Amino acid sequence: MPSPSLAAPSPVPAIAARNRLVITGLAVAITAGTFVFDLMTPIGVAAALPYTLLILLSLRLGGTAATWLAAAVATVLTGIGLWIKVQGPDPELWKGVVNRGTCVLVFWAMAALGVAYKRSRERLLVEQAAALRTEQLASLGEMAAGIGHELGTPLGALQGRLELLEQMLAAGPGDPEAMRRTVHILARLADRMTRIIRAVRSLARDAWEDPFVDVSVEEIVGDALEIAEDRLRRLGVDVRVEGLDEKLRIPCREAQISQVLLNLIANAADAVQELPERWIRIEVSRRRDTVAIAVTDSGEGIPDEIRARVMQPFFTTKPAGQGTGFGLSISRAFVEAHAGTLSLESGSAHTRFVVTLPAKR
Ligand code: ADP
Repeated sequence: MPSPSLAAPSPVPAIAARNRLVITGLAVAITAGTFVFDLMTPIGVAAALPYTLLILLSLRLGGTAATWLAAAVATVLTGIGLWIKVQGPDPELWKGVVNRGTCVLVFWAMAALGVAYKRSRERLLVEQAAALRTEQLASLGEMAAGIGHELGTPLGALQGRLELLEQMLAAGPGDPEAMRRTVHILARLADRMTRIIRAVRSLARDAWEDPFVDVSVEEIVGDALEIAEDRLRRLGVDVRVEGLDEKLRIPCREAQISQVLLNLIANAADAVQELPERWIRIEVSRRRDTVAIAVTDSGEGIPDEIRARVMQPFFTTKPAGQGTGFGLSISRAFVEAHAGTLSLESGSAHTRFVVTLPAKR
């Protein structure tokens, strides 16, 4: 296996992580500092803690404007505290001035870092969305030839049957049963083509705004396999599907869950393509209120040293141009948006990813 690489090195995750670390450090420092400076009493902590929490909360709930406002409120309140101290007969006035002055500076530093953190997170999301788009378009491009082939076969058969039907009709009133059979075959071919087109269409667009609808698991698995079928056949990968039950349904954004399965199948195909034994097994099972879809391949698992990193954005071991390192991280985001989980199983002799999603009640 080639050594791990970063497909599209981005400084954004590192900046976001660093800012978060510094903010946490400052929050701890301000609390501890106030305790030491402000007469070593719990009252000192009680004075600074609410402001610190206010800023952290504004970051979590609000946004950048709310954070600036929180820093301003903290400054005004600290100023009032200082004014009260100046009015009173305090022999250690300098301590109060230093303490509150430092607090104000730290509040603003925290707010500034918080805002920087929020902006870097937003940039990260934009980068991820753009990379996902590129990955989707790239895989669509790669599949275009296969899709053409997939559609060509039923279309050819459809044309052949239509000609046959035409001949039957031209020959006068023939065997109605033979005609009925031909029409039935035509309908099935048209249905197959509709399924292929629907699967491709659902992949080609952004589905975050789609409503959740109840979809049969059989249909989702079938659609994903329909798209991957041509490539799997060319690579000589044997596919087995177990546990499908037509009654099993999940509330979901179909395009996203199809994309997850397709990613797992595509990764599995990549992993086994050079192996002497090439198979992929898809097992569907119902566990209480959830449906589990496991995708196992004939590969011998993922080395321990990279297991923890495979779902991180930008992580890929594929040669440049073939992997973006986004398939699994985006898949996980899709599954988590459905209140489900995507995990890499550790106890299996082969590589096995499991998607768990809430079942229709
Ligand atoms: P990409 O496919 O673009 O590399 P992914 O996020 O889908 O991005 O996968 C990240 C990495 O996880 C892959 O480069 C590969 O090293 C590893 N991986 C994913 N699925 C498998 C699998 N079935 N077998 C072996 N390695 C895998």
